[in-house]
Amino acid sequence: MQPQIRLAPDVQESLCCPRCRARLNHAGEQFTCANPGCAAGYPIVDGIPVLIDEQASIFSLDDFVSHRTTFVSNAGECRVKTTLRRWLPTIDRNLRAKANYRRMSSALLEQSPAPRVLVLGGGILGQGLEELARNTAVDLVESDVSFGPRTRLICDAHDLPFPDETFDGVVVQAVLEHVVDPYRCAAEIHRVLKPRGIVYAETPFVQQVHGGRYDFTRFTHLGHRRLFRRFEEMDSGAVCGPAMALAWSYQYFLLSFTTSRTLRLFLRVFARLTAFPLKYVDYYLANRPAALDATAVYYFMGRKSGQTLPDRDLIQQYRGAI
Ligand SMILES: [Zn+2]
Repeated sequence: MQPQIRLAPDVQESLCCPRCRARLNHAGEQFTCANPGCAAGYPIVDGIPVLIDEQASIFSLDDFVSHRTTFVSNAGECRVKTTLRRWLPTIDRNLRAKANYRRMSSALLEQSPAPRVLVLGGGILGQGLEELARNTAVDLVESDVSFGPRTRLICDAHDLPFPDETFDGVVVQAVLEHVVDPYRCAAEIHRVLKPRGIVYAETPFVQQVHGGRYDFTRFTHLGHRRLFRRFEEMDSGAVCGPAMALAWSYQYFLLSFTTSRTLRLFLRVFARLTAFPLKYVDYYLANRPAALDATAVYYFMGRKSGQTLPDRDLIQQYRGAI
């Protein structure tokens, strides 16, 4: 028997074709676009709808039907790596996500008694996101481009399979550096949000390549603000500061010397053991103006607006020290 689709019935009802946005017909193990001129078919894999427009995406439907590695490997990790990951101190620390999600949670509940939030890159629980997830009034629709433990829907952020004004909130944490066209994704987020709907984004500025071939872009604080220029800012700043940036640079400097898997594993362990205390310096640094020019990861929280922030006003929002 085909596993049940684990989306709320009205969310499932609202799904639309990522190519032409027509409604979808559900029959057996697939969805079919109801628009006769499109008629695209979308498989359901292990109860998870795969709503990817193959003509536009870097992913194909077969990547998911065949369980190929997309962003995250399906093969799992060896025990040595899992053990090291669990027991070694980390070199990064998110200083703001918990507080930011608490703020987002109350702002959402002020607008709606049962807010619905689309999570892009939600296959695993993002740092601090438990603050939003634990609120039973908030319905998280967790989507991704790989089968993570929390993935309920496979979709590509460039072409979201939802009609306009579907969601009260969108979370896009550590995702926009991994998409080929972040401006298109920001436009899609704007489209699927209800008026005054809230977006929460975290995107790196000084952080080396992670996610291998799926890593494309970095943003300064103002670059990130411009990405969300059709939103009214509620808050923005650093979630991880210059100390984390330094720790990552140090680790990747060491890794630059070799492609040997064994040596790289040893170097990662060495980097973690010798650089982990650096992250605590960010408690002192992260909110200082001079640090905003050298920060590892920025956040932006804002409301969907009918206005676009003019570039002339954008440059007035520089908060660094240069
Ligand atoms: Zn269609």
